[in-house]
Amino acid sequence: MRTIIVTGGAGFIGSHLCAKLLEKGDHIICVDNLLTGQNQNIAALKKNQQFTFIEADVTKPFDLSVDKIDAIFHLASPASPNHHSKISYHALAMETMMVNTVGTLQMLRLAKKFAAKFLFASTSEIYGDPLVHPQQEDYQGNVSSTGPRSVYDEAKRFGETLTAYFGRDQEVDARIVRIFNTYGPNMRSDDKRMIINFILQALAGEPITVYGDGNQTRSLCYVDDLVAGLISLGLNEELKGSIVNLGAIEEHSVKEYAEIIIKLTNSNSNIEFSEELPKDDPVRRKPDISRAKNLIDWSPNTPLTQGLQKTVEYFKSL
Ligand code: NAD
Ligand code: UDP
Repeated sequence: MRTIIVTGGAGFIGSHLCAKLLEKGDHIICVDNLLTGQNQNIAALKKNQQFTFIEADVTKPFDLSVDKIDAIFHLASPASPNHHSKISYHALAMETMMVNTVGTLQMLRLAKKFAAKFLFASTSEIYGDPLVHPQQEDYQGNVSSTGPRSVYDEAKRFGETLTAYFGRDQEVDARIVRIFNTYGPNMRSDDKRMIINFILQALAGEPITVYGDGNQTRSLCYVDDLVAGLISLGLNEELKGSIVNLGAIEEHSVKEYAEIIIKLTNSNSNIEFSEELPKDDPVRRKPDISRAKNLIDWSPNTPLTQGLQKTVEYFKSL
């Protein structure tokens, strides 16, 4: 049986990852300080004897009594860019900078000590407001080192630097995954990312708050598809040093997402162009996923309306 650490395992993506790894018969150690995660995401997992939850901050030392670790998936980090949310990386700026830098260093040292595979959950945000489209892994980005999103973007970039260094010079079997916009059940309703706001507003019959003119684009990946890619990349024997985009390639404007969700929920909501586009909000974003296709034969296969329907059902059930 493998022993696998998932940091941020009580969060949205992390909880799905823990559940899938448990299905494979692994022993999962979820390390999470519940900063933005939720106990309810892991309540069912806690009933499984092969699941261990350690409530701890990965930027600080914590007790871990194991004699082996096979892999570490380092997902811990706030992830919402919405400045209206109290759990956004703006509200949690210091925590965000520390977990992606100091926390990444701690987890890389742990990986080195146990000769464990290491996966760093990076982000499409490291491309900033991209000047090339779609974004390939070789693109170096258009990022502000001091702008409002820099607390997240630059911390992730330094997390990548640490991961690449430990892979190159410290013999750690490390890889970087750049996650593009992902959605699904277990997202927090107060997180205020686009898809959550739009679904909750549509269900309540409230105006859908589109920022800017709504022509900025995103490609949304359903969480099950993303998790399948994370597991393939994280546990693969031959991917040391790889850097891989994971995300959907079906691209829509934000205004189109608002329209799709209104239709899907049979809502009476109107679209309201409520505020200016936030500073440094990427105008176009879509991954080039040919590397993931070549390396692990991965591409997302959940149709958008199907993934959205499951997400709507989740929020209705809360
Ligand atoms: P999330 O906020 O739901 O999950 C993050 C988890 O990390 C939470 O459970 C939180 O409590 C935990 N955490 C934060 N700081 C911690 C610390 N110091 N010690 C221990 N635990 C800590 O976010 P998510 O959407 O599930 O994102 C997971 C990862 O994927 C993040 O690293 C994020 O940057 C990355 N990512 C997500 C997306 C997306 O669309 N969801 C896109 C790109 C990258
Ligand atoms: N957005 C919006 N209304 C909202 C929330 C977000 O128009 O209520 C926009 C946001 O400005 C961005 C896009 O939707 O252009 C996606 O935002 P999200 O918060 O999901 O994350 P991002 O892709 O910016 O990291």
